[in-house]
Amino acid sequence: MLIRKTGLILSLLIFAIQLNFSQVNVRLFYGMEVNSVLLRVLSGSYKIQESPGSYREIIKEEIVFVAKSGDKVYISFRSGPGFISDELRLIANTDSSILSIKIIPGDKESYEYEGDFSVFNSLGSLRIINNIDIEKYLAGVVQAEGGYKGHPEYFKSQAVIARTYAYLHLDRHSEDGYNLCDAVHCQVYHGRSVTKAINEAVSATENIVLADNDSVLILTPFHSNCGGETETSENVWLTGAPYLKSVIDPYCGYSRNARWDKEIRFDEWLVYLKSKGYNGGASAASSDFRQDTRKTDFVIGDFSLPLTTIREDWGLRSAFFSMFVSGDKLIMKGKGYGHGVGLCQEGAMVMALRGFSHKQILNYYYSGVKLFDINDVIIPKREKVTF
Ligand SMILES: [Zn+2]
Ligand SMILES: [Zn+2]
Repeated sequence: MLIRKTGLILSLLIFAIQLNFSQVNVRLFYGMEVNSVLLRVLSGSYKIQESPGSYREIIKEEIVFVAKSGDKVYISFRSGPGFISDELRLIANTDSSILSIKIIPGDKESYEYEGDFSVFNSLGSLRIINNIDIEKYLAGVVQAEGGYKGHPEYFKSQAVIARTYAYLHLDRHSEDGYNLCDAVHCQVYHGRSVTKAINEAVSATENIVLADNDSVLILTPFHSNCGGETETSENVWLTGAPYLKSVIDPYCGYSRNARWDKEIRFDEWLVYLKSKGYNGGASAASSDFRQDTRKTDFVIGDFSLPLTTIREDWGLRSAFFSMFVSGDKLIMKGKGYGHGVGLCQEGAMVMALRGFSHKQILNYYYSGVKLFDINDVIIPKREKVTF
């Protein structure tokens, strides 16, 4: 009876934990081969499990060196002997414990993290997982993806976007044993936010996410600058969504990434077009191409090429550009920076400065969506969408 009761309480607890999703496991230094790291306690303290039931306390300013050793990890300290283990687990003793992690060798800067850690050897590289409160993780993401400077309402819109993305993609790395990675593949995360305005924006929007009229969590792509008109998602990813339709953006035209120029030698351009199946002459290929509003394809007679392909092949800042030939050069005059789908960050910053709320900003770029508490939405089974 007691066992059954305990079992019931346990399963209720697991259910509650699953509903709360208060913690997230983030793989750090994703995509990098890590041979060894230096860990330094910046604040508070941690405990390390040395053997079953035996813990060692790591206090402020203490340094721990972790390296690969066969298929295990070797852990050593400034003083005293080290040990070899299958896994290093560091548990924060306080909410304010902060750990700096630096990859060595390498002159890369160290990053500061909160929460707990596990380090083990996987396929010849150290795998470092940060188990952290999801709201603290989100503040780190907003700092890495949204910048250090900005209006509070802009930070709030970035916080809601990052939170919506995180909940929608919690299973993105489920086969790898964690939730999300710290790279652009998921959301960029370089550790804790040290920006007060970002921490406040995350707290002010705690648990708030974006969902559609059926309370289903939505995809929330964003980009740096749309060039004055956002792009419909079908034109970039072939996947449509009613809330990812093109909108005119009167706000981003004077921002840093509003315009770009590029020059290409015309003969190179012609070789490129021919490699893509163009069999017309040079004179037809040299006529002006204009995009006053966004087009999907570059067209000469029967030949057409998606602008997203040209963007990718030439490493252009956006697919929203016009072209004309001058002498032996093809001059490209472009607008915006990024794929153009969803929220335009520079437009959102200007909207915030002009007095729009984060709710108005989000509604402007994601048509017809609403803000919900995460506990009131349906999290769809994520389809294989690459953004
Ligand atoms: Zn990822
Ligand atoms: Zn814009």
